[in-house]
Amino acid sequence: MVDTVARDRLEPGGRPGEPANEPRHDAAETTRASEAGLAAPLLSLRNVRRAYTNTDGGPATEVLRGISLDIAAGEFVAIMGASGSGKSTLMHILGCLDRPTSGHYQFAGHDIAQLGADELAWLRREAFGFVFQGYHLVRSLDALHNVEMPAVYAGASLGERERRAAALLDQLGLADRATFRPGQLSGGQQQRVSIARALMNGGHVILADEPTGALDSRSGAEVVALLRELADAGHTVILITHDRAVAAQARRIVEIRDGQIVSDNGVRAPVAPNAPRTMIPASLDPRRFRAAMAAGIAHTARPWTDMREAFAAAWTVMWTNRFRTALTLLGIIIGVASVIVMLAIGAGTQQKVIAKIASFGTNRLYVVPGGDVSRGPGGVLTEADVRTIRQIPHVTTATPILRNKVTLRAGNVDSFVNVMAVNTDARRALNWNVARGLFFTDQDERNLATVILLGKKTRERMFGDANPLGAYVLVNNVPFQVIGELEEKGATSGDADDDDVVLIPYATGARRVLGTMNLNWITVLVDDIDNAEAVTKQIGDALEATHRVRDFRVYNRAASLRAQTETQQTMTIMLGLVAAISLLVGGIGVMNIMLVTVKERTREIGIRMAAGARQRDIQRQFLTEAITVTLVGGLAGVLIGVAIGLALLHWEVPIIFSVRAMLGAFACALVTGLVFGFMPARQAARLDPVTALASD
Ligand code: ADP
Ligand code: MG
Repeated sequence: MVDTVARDRLEPGGRPGEPANEPRHDAAETTRASEAGLAAPLLSLRNVRRAYTNTDGGPATEVLRGISLDIAAGEFVAIMGASGSGKSTLMHILGCLDRPTSGHYQFAGHDIAQLGADELAWLRREAFGFVFQGYHLVRSLDALHNVEMPAVYAGASLGERERRAAALLDQLGLADRATFRPGQLSGGQQQRVSIARALMNGGHVILADEPTGALDSRSGAEVVALLRELADAGHTVILITHDRAVAAQARRIVEIRDGQIVSDNGVRAPVAPNAPRTMIPASLDPRRFRAAMAAGIAHTARPWTDMREAFAAAWTVMWTNRFRTALTLLGIIIGVASVIVMLAIGAGTQQKVIAKIASFGTNRLYVVPGGDVSRGPGGVLTEADVRTIRQIPHVTTATPILRNKVTLRAGNVDSFVNVMAVNTDARRALNWNVARGLFFTDQDERNLATVILLGKKTRERMFGDANPLGAYVLVNNVPFQVIGELEEKGATSGDADDDDVVLIPYATGARRVLGTMNLNWITVLVDDIDNAEAVTKQIGDALEATHRVRDFRVYNRAASLRAQTETQQTMTIMLGLVAAISLLVGGIGVMNIMLVTVKERTREIGIRMAAGARQRDIQRQFLTEAITVTLVGGLAGVLIGVAIGLALLHWEVPIIFSVRAMLGAFACALVTGLVFGFMPARQAARLDPVTALASD
């Protein structure tokens, strides 16, 4: 029965001296094949030519010159020829790694010329298993992962893959070498790993290009014996060799010379006597081919698993080149860390300023003597000016303030403190509350009462923890009775500490202590912050009218603080820009390293393509690597940024961390990886499989 599988072979393609360039599909042969109960040949080449365009514009060199060849399922064929005769070129075409320049190639009755890149990738992983002279194993992966790689692109689950890969390694006597990397294996072992890989997805058609070329004779013989066993088990095996002795192991020998078939003993040997006809999987059955292909190409199964594996793979690559990766990441790390620190400082400082503005009161103006210009007149502010200001609409209060240093004595304690002579409005105007006791009254003001309020620090110095209320103190030798203590302010007015001060009624201060009516400043409260600007101008105009010269200044402390905040914000933006530039530089670094990686791993890309990776698989792999790199950089940046922030906090720099800023910086790093990884990834995906495989 099995013998009926034996062919009724087509004429050998191309005889010596015969150009063999006319199509060889002839009706009689096809009929004969079907009469014998045979399906069409699995692989069928008709007058296939392959020419390489000459780079310096000369005539194209034709490497394959009209090859016509039919190979049935289950055959064991050796393609023999001298070096340079075009064997590898032929194999690349048979394996759908390359396309003919002209002529036809049909696989399972389907014209390969009609198939797109993804469809060819599907066919490679579904139908072919490649074995190369140089093994072509991925050096960074161990034997097990090299073997399972084709199944990754076929969408097999992790468990299924590992089981099958382990079983194959076991069959090939490599069970104890599963975790070895190619560099730790002998040539013969590496070649067996590559045979296991070829079988991973079924390996219905094994294409072996000089598989013994790099091996010693014993390992070589073992490999050929293995291929023979596979052929006996029903695999279609195409063995390419320049060695007549190796070729002799096959049942059929096709000899090529200068790109033409010179002999084919196809009729001589039968197909493996017990080869099961079912060796051709259902998906390659001509009737189901199209549907299976459509389904196979569309597979996007397990996107999450795919992602996780891609990340794991990317991590391995990064770890292998960790020093280089760390250097590349510096830009990203610095960028992300500085974004976080800058924004934290910015937010912290701003909050501090806002708190300060609130403590000043936003609707408070100050009028101080002395003009803007240093050479201008040294002006004087008087109570008349206060009255003028009170006439201005929207002014709630105008408080005259006298301040000077005085000697304060309580018992036998002497102290030199600031005294402020203020009226009853000051409590509101200066936002000063009484901690204990009372503030002055208008009565005190009119009576020139000698009453005094102490700041907290002054009280502590003069009285310690004792209650000062009712006690007498001497202010420049004038006795005053303590009627209250001020609430702690924790702030300063210019060079004076607001908590180390004493308050006395304005009139008493002017007449009995300080002996001057020249005000140190006037504090003005405006009814609404929105009117502050207009009132500032009106005060200026009104006082200038009476003084006849601008010998004073009106300013809004809150406004000037706000201006200061704005400057700070500008600084923050500038520093943010620096961080952004750093990220950009980091991104360019990532792109650079990815381009290098693609260059270094061109052959790996070729190997993956031969194993059935689609362009989008390759693109995704490299994009994932770029993103993983930046992700790690982003994470390191966030950690370092937070560490720096905490250190600054320790040094009492105001810091407010913002989760949004962290996420933002992190997202920036991610986007950087995506943007700058895209180009190298696309470059990798667009590589031609044959060129990629040939690179070193
Ligand atoms: P074999 O495998 O039989 O030794 P090849 O198929 O590798 O031979 O190459 C056959 C001929 O094609 C050689 O002369 C080689 O120089 C040429 N060739 C192979 N690949 C290319 C290419 N990419 N560009 C130009 N010439 C090529
Ligand atoms: Mg070759």
